[in-house]
Amino acid sequence: MSELTNLGVKAIRDGVADGSFTAREVAEAFNTAVAEAADLNAFIVTTPDHALAAADAADAKRARGEDLGIMGGVPIGMKDLFATKGVQTTAASHILEGFTPEYESTVSQKLWDAGAGMLGKLNLDQFAMGSSNETSYFGNVNSPWRKEGSNAAMSPGGSSGGSSSAVAARIAPAATGTDTGGSIRQPAAFTGICGIKPTYGRCSRWGVVAFASSLDQAGPMARSVEDCAIMLEAMAGFDPKDATSLQMDVPAWEAGLDADLKGKKIGIPKEYRMDGTDEEILKSWEQGKEWLRDAGATIVDVSLPHTKYALPAYYIVAPAEASSNLARYDGVRYGLRDLPDGAGLQDMYAATRAAGFGDEVKRRILIGTYVLSAGFYDAYYTQAQKIRTLVSQDFEKAFAQCDAILAPTTPTASFPLGSLNEDPLTMYLNDVFAVPASLAGLPAMSVPATVNSDGLPLGLQVVGKPFDEQGVLNAGLAIQQRAGFDAQPEKWW
Ligand code: GLN
Repeated sequence: MSELTNLGVKAIRDGVADGSFTAREVAEAFNTAVAEAADLNAFIVTTPDHALAAADAADAKRARGEDLGIMGGVPIGMKDLFATKGVQTTAASHILEGFTPEYESTVSQKLWDAGAGMLGKLNLDQFAMGSSNETSYFGNVNSPWRKEGSNAAMSPGGSSGGSSSAVAARIAPAATGTDTGGSIRQPAAFTGICGIKPTYGRCSRWGVVAFASSLDQAGPMARSVEDCAIMLEAMAGFDPKDATSLQMDVPAWEAGLDADLKGKKIGIPKEYRMDGTDEEILKSWEQGKEWLRDAGATIVDVSLPHTKYALPAYYIVAPAEASSNLARYDGVRYGLRDLPDGAGLQDMYAATRAAGFGDEVKRRILIGTYVLSAGFYDAYYTQAQKIRTLVSQDFEKAFAQCDAILAPTTPTASFPLGSLNEDPLTMYLNDVFAVPASLAGLPAMSVPATVNSDGLPLGLQVVGKPFDEQGVLNAGLAIQQRAGFDAQPEKWW
């Protein structure tokens, strides 16, 4: 592994700008690392030429004395949920195999405009549905991490597992993720990296394959809080093409980083002490409180009484929206078409969808269609929407007493691939701490805290008030500085 692949976003950007190395050298180092890491299965397609072209553009700008942009010369991985012009975009589903968009998503375009280049399209759970990266049509992603003394393949988390695996393995300095119910934070926690889901509406959803539109939000995944701040600044911003996009200026999050939390109150929600949460995770949560106290914050107890209803409500709202969003994959407009001999239009729809969607996606479509159907709508969907409101109100009340909330990101560390497949409910439970902030549309971040007795990373989660990404990043920075997390997976790939 060359030295350059150890660098993160800020170090690469600043090093290219001051001439310590060229952007081309960086892109070449990462392209090589990506090519050598096929065993991780983190990428669905690689785009070395995209990374090189952006690097050459950055080097040329530097030669002309021009501004390189806040991501100038940084090659990144792009979750394969973002439409990329001329580059296959699949959402890790067979039904979109071969689909090459004619347009660029707003978020990816903003990253290119800020000077970044693309190493490739990252693997994920199919249509971002999953918590382990086992629902991809293109095979599961492997975490670079393994339990000490074991060769068992571990989950990188989901759905942004290609992103987490690539960043943790240092084959990408950073990657995009999306988070509908934890898909940035849970994989970040599983792999010892940082990831922030901003307030709903900060990043445009235009050109992002839709899962559950009222929840979907893009965000960065990187190895430090600073790198997340930089990349989020490049990704965020109002977009007239997304009706839910926030019409607000993008704050200077990088410049605003400040780990001094004097005068800040951090809330500890008592309902997050749930049965089934790993003892070592509870211990790291205690440690997190100490770190934030040390940074100057006051720790206060808060209550989020509807927490236990958040997960069941999410698993009604998200599949309901998915069943509607995924109706567009009909064999006519995108990717796969299965047209049996002599078949009519209805047969084509049925055959295409039967062949194109994976089991988990079909399960979500079935659940979603059921909860939206006449006779069940009020019993399920309406009730779930009411719970969503109550969960939001819980946070509003808590934020009258505190500036941010500290919680674990996940109830357990990463698990071996295959170990939770039998029981979807156990898999869904993995998002129990992540989903409430998603339902309420709040900014939330996972920061690595420590490794457990198996040598696997554990993450801490900071949830903030609406639009207060700065507060979340700053609390994250305070944790990062005290945790001093520098563990790295031993290279086996
Ligand atoms: N794991 C959750 C699910 O399967 C969340 C996914 C996500 O945030 N995209 O729905």
